[in-house]
Amino acid sequence: MKISLSGVSPLSSGAGIESEHVRVLILGSGPAGLSAALYAARADLNPVVLAGMEMGGQVALTYTVENYPGFPEGVGGQELVELFQKQAERFGARIDFDLALEVNLRERPFVIKAYSKTYLADTLIIATGATPNHLNVPGEKELTGKGVSYCATCDGWFFKDKDVVVVGGGDSALEEGIFLTRYARSVAIVHRRDTLRAGAILQKRARENSKISFLFNTIVTEIIGQDAVRQVRLRNVQTGEEWLRDTDGVFIFIGHSPNTQLFEGQLEMDANRYLIVDRLMQTNIPGVFAAGEAADPYFRQVITSAGMGAAAAMRAIHYLQERSAEKVSA
Ligand SMILES: Cc1cc2nc3c(=O)[nH]c(=O)nc-3n(C[C@H](O)[C@H](O)[C@H](O)COP(=O)(O)OP(=O)(O)OC[C@H]3O[C@@H](n4cnc5c(N)ncnc54)[C@H](O)[C@@H]3O)c2cc1C
Repeated sequence: MKISLSGVSPLSSGAGIESEHVRVLILGSGPAGLSAALYAARADLNPVVLAGMEMGGQVALTYTVENYPGFPEGVGGQELVELFQKQAERFGARIDFDLALEVNLRERPFVIKAYSKTYLADTLIIATGATPNHLNVPGEKELTGKGVSYCATCDGWFFKDKDVVVVGGGDSALEEGIFLTRYARSVAIVHRRDTLRAGAILQKRARENSKISFLFNTIVTEIIGQDAVRQVRLRNVQTGEEWLRDTDGVFIFIGHSPNTQLFEGQLEMDANRYLIVDRLMQTNIPGVFAAGEAADPYFRQVITSAGMGAAAAMRAIHYLQERSAEKVSA
């Protein structure tokens, strides 16, 4: 569910006017955030989740999830996160439809300014996820979940004996393209340059796969279809020639961007701006934990994100227990 905060800008908002002290604040309502909320709620910590712009996170965008255990027939993405939410709320978690705008992690409690108020948090769990990079071409947004996908592991199965286009030339594009040949009849890899960026072994594997073909120096300029993808408009970047190609699916692998801009200068990040956490989900600031895709460039699944969320909450609980024990003995 996309939340509308229209009409409110950071400058005109009430950020900073009202404040609330919470023990556990969770940024993000995707699988990581809602799993963290469940664990913190069951420890009687009354966690507050800031939902952000996308209640339920990325998984709410997908039609069916077939690889989350416990649902042998699959489950709707939206339905799955609603179940996560319901379960967390049952134990006392609260979801605020608000967005963190600014954080100060140098102060204790941590200060998080959102649109409607300022939160003062004893512990913070960052589960702001990541956003797959988009092509930003006509038809992409409208057909997401209807043939446009950013996840072959998730959606590949729906393309049994179908023709698909994969956009990208890096490791992900080739890895996912090769994976898609398990299902698809054909996989056309569309890459804007004349050479692939992917590693040599992957390139060899892809070239040897009879289902894979390559379209170099080519970009997708439009994705066409009503209720499902039917065609893509392609353009050769050298000659300018344009043509239409029939396809049942478009898989886009042109990188992911973690939603971590808010923490720049305060939390350690890798070169691609993923938050760096230790094995206990802790960032470089004690009491600030991170989970899910904001801190995970590798797995990017509902189950792994949920697992990281649960782990982060367990450590946040431990952190609060230690701090209150210190206070008692002081
Ligand atoms: C189309 C699609 C289909 C997919 N299908 C599958 C599948 O079938 N199986 C599978 O395992 N995985 C699937 N995935 C991947 C899966 O959705 C992600 O791995 C998972 O959602 C990541 O969870 P997360 O909680 O880390 O982050 P996200 O789901 O990205 O959630 C991030 C949350 O943070 C919030 N947020 C961001 N910034 C702020 C802020 N400043 N303040 C407050 N909140 C903020 C957002 O609103 C959102 O609620 C799919 C992904 C896509 C895009």
